[in-house]
Amino acid sequence: MRIILLGPPGAGKGTQAKRLADKMNLAHISTGDILRRNVLEGTALGKEAKDFMERGLLVPDELMSKMLFERFTQQDVKKGFILDGYPRNLAQAITLEGIFKQKDIDIDMVAYLDSSDSVIIQRLSGRLVCSACGANFHKTNMPPNKNGICDKCGASLFQRTDDKEETIKKRLEVYKKEDSGLIKYYQQKNKLYRLSADGEAEAVLNEIIALSKKLHDSLKV
Ligand code: AMP
Repeated sequence: MRIILLGPPGAGKGTQAKRLADKMNLAHISTGDILRRNVLEGTALGKEAKDFMERGLLVPDELMSKMLFERFTQQDVKKGFILDGYPRNLAQAITLEGIFKQKDIDIDMVAYLDSSDSVIIQRLSGRLVCSACGANFHKTNMPPNKNGICDKCGASLFQRTDDKEETIKKRLEVYKKEDSGLIKYYQQKNKLYRLSADGEAEAVLNEIIALSKKLHDSLKV
């Protein structure tokens, strides 16, 4: 399967993508994770991206397309993938289309995770991320067993610098400017499936899996 996850920051794309990748044996391509790794390692890309990320703005498209192109040269994408965090605007959707054409890739579905602003702000302002494995927790919705420690690998948890309330509002504003263009683009291609992501993560996950199975079966006919 080749899946794109769309939706506002805080809709749970990262959490769902990680679980889906595990369950369906797919590569998880998260542009946010790749950028954060680059920032942490102090690479040239990381240095260029850092300021945009801290201000809740989009990293320029040219940097993103180069990064994505490189990611699609890696072997693991051949088994199928979940793309999380890209595209964020129409120009990126067109770039992606170009990469797919070159690599002869057909996308199976674009799952749009819909979420309300109040749920998004509550989720993001309480989000905790593992500094080693990237697992997500939440101060109240999904607290770790031990305060500040990742249940999965034992490393320390931190709050992302862009998960402060002011930056969350900016990210939502940036997102809403581009959202409808992207939705239309994938609707016209008959690839878009809308799901409500306000409920429990497990229920949303099961809905995406059910949808992808249905699609997979219909593609086999
Ligand atoms: P995320 O983890 O997907 O919420 O992304 C965190 C931040 O990384 C965003 O607020 C942007 O600054 C940057 N970023 C991630 N993906 C993209 C993208 N496709 N285009 C531009 N910037 C991005």
